Amino acid sequence: MAKVFCIANQKGGVGKTTTTVNLAAGLARVNQRVLVVDLDPQGNATMGSGVDKRAMPMSVYDVLLESAGIAEAKCSADGAGYDILGANRELAGAEVELVQLERRNERLRTALAAVDADYDFVLIDCPPSLSLLTLNGLCSAHGVIVPMQCEYFALEGLSDLVNTIKQVHANLNRDLQIIGLLRVMFDPRITLQQQVSEQLQQHFGDKVFSTVIPRNVRLAEAPSYGQPGVVFDPSSKGAQAYVEFARELVKRMGSLGKPAKAGAAL
Ligand code: ADP
Ligand code: MG
Repeated sequence: MAKVFCIANQKGGVGKTTTTVNLAAGLARVNQRVLVVDLDPQGNATMGSGVDKRAMPMSVYDVLLESAGIAEAKCSADGAGYDILGANRELAGAEVELVQLERRNERLRTALAAVDADYDFVLIDCPPSLSLLTLNGLCSAHGVIVPMQCEYFALEGLSDLVNTIKQVHANLNRDLQIIGLLRVMFDPRITLQQQVSEQLQQHFGDKVFSTVIPRNVRLAEAPSYGQPGVVFDPSSKGAQAYVEFARELVKRMGSLGKPAKAGAAL
């Protein structure tokens, strides 16, 4: 059975897409079968996986409106070793169209059920909002991975996301839990980042992943080459950290579902 994870944070520019494509490529490197679902109309995960969002024959839009299944609408992220269900501007329209349709929260979940046996992991790159698209992601997922920068206001936005996740858990998807917080774009030379990082660990215990993703320019350069950093420059510090994160996640899956020792606040 595929483990389905949303990469979510309602802030923009916090590293959701970078985490999605690099974790996907990292998981592929450790022999996992991975599907990325791009749920952001900006289509950054699509382009960052080497798929031209303007030239795709089909996308996640067709899947949400049930005019295609995932098996026919997905593309292959050439060279990165995973599949991707792409997104483009069309998806912004889907949000409006979905409002009037039945089962509007569950469309992605239904579509994913049909390809469940084909993957070990499904990673859903969510848009920077708590919209109907994000809701479709949260209703489909077993868990949420929250990338965050260790900055002063990082925790503020977190409470909105945690509340949304609690509500979805209570009303729509009993499986949903927070898998963990991932510290990204980390610069150990900045004292404030170290302090916030320590606070996160004190507060959330083992809900904070032990892998830390450093700020690394190769990760930022990779999308313009249509590749995840893990593929673009595997020896870079950023790429190595994401492969390490993939290993940590695979290991954690053994304990998924058991109550966390700490991090009661989540
Ligand atoms: P989001 O999807 O949350 O909007 P992105 O993944 O697109 O965020 O990241 C925002 C910007 O930060 C992008 O330009 C990206 O290349 C850059 N970036 C992300 N992670 C890192 C990192 N670890 N080191 C350096 N730049 C990064
Ligand atoms: Mg993004």
